[in-house]
Amino acid sequence: MRSPILLEARPRWALVSVNVEELGRRWLAHEEARPGQREMIHDGIEALWERGHLVAAAPTGIGKTAASLAAALAVAREREGRCTVMFLTSRQSQHRIVVETVRSMNDRRPPEDRVSLVDMIGQAGMCVQPFAEERPAVFSLLCANARKTRSCRPYITPAPSLPNRILASPLHVEELVELTRHHREHGEPTLACPWRVAREAAARADVVVGDYNHLFNEGVRDSTLAALGLTLEQLIIVVDEAHNLPERIRSGLERRLTPLLVRNAKPDLEEYLGTVSERLGRGPHTDMIEWTTQVIDAMGPLVQGLFTRLHTDLAAAADDASRRRRNGERGAYEPKELEVQAEDLLALIHEACDTVDGVSGQTTLTTPTPAAAVERLDRLNVLREVLRDAEVEVDPEATQDAESDAQRLGAVLDDVVRFGDTTGHLFCFSPEGRAGRITSHLLDPGLVSGPVLNASAGAVLMSGTLYPPSMYADLLSLPVKRTTIRSYPSPFAAQRRPVVVATDVTSTYRQRSPSNTARMQEHLRALIQAAPGHVAVFAPSYALLEEIVTDAHWPVHRTIVESSDWDKSKADEVLDILERERDAGRKVLLAGTFGARLSEGVDYRGGLLDAVACIGLPIAPPGVVQDGLKAFVAERFGKDKSWRYTSTQPAVNRVLQAMGRPIRGIGDRAVVLLLEQRCEQPMYLKCFPGDLQMVPMSDPNGLKRLAERFYRRVHRSPTP
Ligand code: SF4
Repeated sequence: MRSPILLEARPRWALVSVNVEELGRRWLAHEEARPGQREMIHDGIEALWERGHLVAAAPTGIGKTAASLAAALAVAREREGRCTVMFLTSRQSQHRIVVETVRSMNDRRPPEDRVSLVDMIGQAGMCVQPFAEERPAVFSLLCANARKTRSCRPYITPAPSLPNRILASPLHVEELVELTRHHREHGEPTLACPWRVAREAAARADVVVGDYNHLFNEGVRDSTLAALGLTLEQLIIVVDEAHNLPERIRSGLERRLTPLLVRNAKPDLEEYLGTVSERLGRGPHTDMIEWTTQVIDAMGPLVQGLFTRLHTDLAAAADDASRRRRNGERGAYEPKELEVQAEDLLALIHEACDTVDGVSGQTTLTTPTPAAAVERLDRLNVLREVLRDAEVEVDPEATQDAESDAQRLGAVLDDVVRFGDTTGHLFCFSPEGRAGRITSHLLDPGLVSGPVLNASAGAVLMSGTLYPPSMYADLLSLPVKRTTIRSYPSPFAAQRRPVVVATDVTSTYRQRSPSNTARMQEHLRALIQAAPGHVAVFAPSYALLEEIVTDAHWPVHRTIVESSDWDKSKADEVLDILERERDAGRKVLLAGTFGARLSEGVDYRGGLLDAVACIGLPIAPPGVVQDGLKAFVAERFGKDKSWRYTSTQPAVNRVLQAMGRPIRGIGDRAVVLLLEQRCEQPMYLKCFPGDLQMVPMSDPNGLKRLAERFYRRVHRSPTP
């Protein structure tokens, strides 16, 4: 057992001595800390005490939720002034464990010193209006309009005693909504908006549970912090499943520019002009909208010309690649996309502005020369602001997105201006769709996460697959001096999860063949025959899944194959089927892809899976964005890291997520089969946790014998 450590902490607000061990023990959710948990609490308190960050690779089973909450609450309560713990997850299903953990914590605390918690999700999930079931985009607009016009009765109904009831004991969000539905004020039924009341209560809570978006999406962050009456400096942030954060930030900022978007932005602006004129009359503000409308109109043919040129350039590049291939040049792959330079887009926007500035005298404006007032340097800002504010009325039948086309165009323009001259961003042309499209890609998630985390009162970023944690600290732009990086050993005994590597198969494109597929199938069949219960298999793509799994016959009662459009309810349905079939003594083969719903985030509780097989490695294919990512990482962190940070490690981390599916509790046991010989190669091997022992094997009969012996000797014991 680690000896108590006296931490001489010199925080800005006071000079105190803190017994870290004692502080951590006071905030435990259970009587005894698990192996690794005590260390994580200790590291968390030490880092947070100095307003620093802990980046923790914390395997399933060490109790990382309880550890992070204990450290965060211990420090938050010692701070002078308000300090709230914001616990962020990437999936709503992960909120439940946070609520349960705080309940356990409270069971061990005196009644007057309990922890209050508010669990929040998006408005649609908490809404009590009939249109809550509408498509997300339509709902957002309906709710926004209802609030703006104050036509939503629950939104304007006061319920002064409700926040106290919410704060009295931790509630799951569904329980919170139920409580709100049946609330009474002075004996009278009082239906208030649960989302609004939750935000009111959250302003006084010790812990707020939310989604990444609450802090890592600029617009949502501003409104969340305003509602809570807090600044980032008053927040201790816990990011769960933090391996998802870089990609969530990147994909959240992906935008699309098409000629159609530019065309559609014009009527949006005209409608917006009408609304503003009606409400505020005419003046400089309407001049700016008119000027912007003219610029967007002038942009139409310029964007069309750019797209025509890009189509021609791409076709020429493809011809060139096939000619080089015919001449025997290896690696001359046919480009499917082209990079578009931000400066070309900027030049196009200025050209449209120049065109309008030259002809604006032809329009009738209320001020003599409003366009002239728009200086060259200011005009980009005017365009961005007008486009960003251009809200239009809801059309439930036609709307696909919460934003108007003008607002979406404004977001692209915003990217050109904000990120155009950084290496952490690029624009990519693809011929897909009706006329092709230019997409905007943030390569550097640190541009978003860095300012948020650095301004906070400290953060714990954790995941079972945060390997190596230093990579995530780099990618998320955490300050080296204020960041503690830790990997905790898995508490699961290696003998309860043998990992077998099939050394005679691969998913490498060049080595795929019918015999490679047949060998993979033999290995998988041997595993299924040996396993007493359900087996899951995951592949890098639906095409490979079809080739290797769907088209073959398996010794199981039924095979369930995931589809790309599955949502959470479908995954829950699968869990119920697995339970039913297990109770009936029937075996199921569950098949899905890496990074999709079944291989990440689904909790196969109670030992539902006896084995998992992972086909190949989900290496990202080459392309403009992938090449841009590599170049960015090489420039920022060094050439030696570019391949690992962008290809090998993300692929292995997806495999690790899938490998972890059967092992959810300390009593679980399973055989893991890696159908990929590259797992034995040093460049991939170093991406796996150091304490993972792999058994190389090329004989399916040997695999079957090993697995049968394992299941005879090692039994599942109920998780305490
Ligand atoms: S304000 Fe609240 S109750 Fe009204 S529509 Fe929005 S989420 Fe629903």
